[in-house]
Amino acid sequence: MPNFYDDNEDLRWYVERGVDWDPLVRLTEYEMKAPDAPASVEEAVSGYRDILELVGGFVGDEVAPRWKELLHAHPRLVEGEVVEAPVVREVVEKLGQLGLFGINVPRELGGMNAPLLLFQLTQELIARADTSVCAHVGFHGGIAMAALLYSVLEGTTTFTSDPPRIVDTRFRELIEEIVAGRAWGSMDITEPGAGSDMAALRTRGELLADGTWVVTGQKVFITSGHGRWHFVIARTEDLASPNGADDAYAGLKGLSLFLVPAWDWGPGGATEGQKVWRATFDGVEEKLGHTASATVSISFERSPAFLVGERGRGFQQMLVLMNNARIGVGFECLGVAEAAWRAAKAYAATRPSMGKTIDRHEMIAEILEDMQTDIQGIRALAVSACWHEEVSQKVELVSRFLPLDPARKAALEAQQRVSRTRSRALTPLLKWLASERCVAIARQAIQVHGGSGYIVETGVERLLRDAMVFPIYEGTSQIQGLMVMKDTLLGVVKDPGGFLRDFAAAQWTSLTGDPLARRVAGLRLVALRAVRFLLLRLTGAKARELPLTDPGAWKAAFANWDPKRDFALAMLHAERLTSLLVDVAVADALLLQVERDPARADVLVRWLERAEPRARWRYDEIVTTGPRLLAILAASGAAASGAASTSASPLPSAAK
Ligand SMILES: Cc1cc2nc3c(=O)[nH]c(=O)nc-3n(C[C@H](O)[C@H](O)[C@H](O)COP(=O)(O)OP(=O)(O)OC[C@H]3O[C@@H](n4cnc5c(N)ncnc54)[C@H](O)[C@@H]3O)c2cc1C
Repeated sequence: MPNFYDDNEDLRWYVERGVDWDPLVRLTEYEMKAPDAPASVEEAVSGYRDILELVGGFVGDEVAPRWKELLHAHPRLVEGEVVEAPVVREVVEKLGQLGLFGINVPRELGGMNAPLLLFQLTQELIARADTSVCAHVGFHGGIAMAALLYSVLEGTTTFTSDPPRIVDTRFRELIEEIVAGRAWGSMDITEPGAGSDMAALRTRGELLADGTWVVTGQKVFITSGHGRWHFVIARTEDLASPNGADDAYAGLKGLSLFLVPAWDWGPGGATEGQKVWRATFDGVEEKLGHTASATVSISFERSPAFLVGERGRGFQQMLVLMNNARIGVGFECLGVAEAAWRAAKAYAATRPSMGKTIDRHEMIAEILEDMQTDIQGIRALAVSACWHEEVSQKVELVSRFLPLDPARKAALEAQQRVSRTRSRALTPLLKWLASERCVAIARQAIQVHGGSGYIVETGVERLLRDAMVFPIYEGTSQIQGLMVMKDTLLGVVKDPGGFLRDFAAAQWTSLTGDPLARRVAGLRLVALRAVRFLLLRLTGAKARELPLTDPGAWKAAFANWDPKRDFALAMLHAERLTSLLVDVAVADALLLQVERDPARADVLVRWLERAEPRARWRYDEIVTTGPRLLAILAASGAAASGAASTSASPLPSAAK
């Protein structure tokens, strides 16, 4: 098998030219003063390249060829413990020996102190070989870093600045166990009665008289939930809230985050292997794909728990972990999509039909080009979202711990504001795009293979089965759509002047920019017109009269606007709006790349060729469809409740 890094020209372009490594390396290496820090940014990047080559070679040679074994490597529940198949243990342990469990953990805690972006790039390489292995490895380093971040944010990590290093952290035991490969963690949110709707969570956290906490409840569908360390979200406050019992989202304010070990080590310690159980594994799911990954249900019955951060802030804290996880899904999708595209391309180059190989037939050639273009678009968004998320998190760490001169501090804070906004905007777009397109790409790979694609032996149909969960976990596609819609529309309501300026700028560039910039601006105009249409429809007749050039009039019109009222049309079109904004975000990212490297124009042209007609179609759907279905829903809602209310749509802020 080839080296999965060396053979990937697009991925290598990012490492060599596309990523602005300088800020990432400086922040990660505590302004280059960390003990054992590389002498320069170039030296650091050279080390990252070595890691990618090592991992790319390993997964190509040692993981990908074992896909058939992994396909049948179901974990099993045996006498209360989840037992992994030997092939999974073996492969995951070997990846751990390459240093991947602690790849982004600081050196003083036993890790390699690489940027989060590098961790995600290695995840892509592993996912191209096998998604189950990718998930399991991810729940090592990813959980260790989440624990460290939580500890820093709650103020339980101590640091010395000369030389800059972490002295101690509340979650040292967890981090050291994970880095050493003796444990891993999980993110326990979903319950039998609550998935997307986190306000419906029922697991309870109870404060005992001695000041300690216990957690009681069941969590289901937990990836790698057979490990020791569980970040559990539980209710600590009653549902009743100042907003009243009819507020479906009052429940979010009553959630807290806990760290709950599924077991403690007995007097013999970890080496003796004696477990004192604190939770019960109820079962391991059999699934459509990801067959070697353990998806576990687990029950806590007054299990000793450690409150993380502030009581009642669990939802906000879980979002930190979930945002990283959503970006992670973007990279996981890239791995699967690469595997699908490469298999299709190789097959099409050798399969003869009607006098030539099928890659010479127009329709198949177009499918192959579609697949490649989508992968390049996803990668552009994934790298950008990850970069901004990492910068915003690391500025937080560095400015808490390092004495910075005022100018540097101000510059970092300014960058952090930009990166926070960008990361918030890009993350749901990435999750939606990557997961939806990965499913489509995996299906295209089967189509290119014809009948062989449908046969298990070929190894292509498993990619579609693996891909099918991406639009479901870490927040479904519909939930991403709701997030995007809510942020976009409320953003305009809060800053109508900004919206009008965007509009004017896009109009200007669409007339005066260079050819590619004009086309990107034209795409943006379609999206902005869709936003304006939705706003005008939602706010009714008063907004219809608003002059496009007068922000003051817009502000006044929206002053008493309640987004809970009549949101139905926007809810209906949330995914369409997301699709439009995705097309613009990818085009923006690719246009920036062209400024850096004109050779990237080819990718942007291919993206625009597809995005332009797609955007016109999406816009058309938004402005011409909806009222008929909404009238039916309103009538049936009124009949069911006996009231003529059409405002039953929940606000998306509650959803994960
Ligand atoms: C393999 C696998 C691994 C998983 N790993 C984890 C894990 O590690 N940790 C964890 O906590 N959970 C995990 N999950 C659970 C996963 O996050 C949930 O399944 C997901 O959030 C959806 O919740 P649900 O299944 O209850 O579906 P529901 O929330 O009931 O949704 C059903 C359908 O309704 C739609 N829907 C719901 N609400 C709305 C709305 N307001 N507007 C429009 N549409 C809506 C959804 O998009 C979906 O299409 C995993 C699931 C799977 C299958």
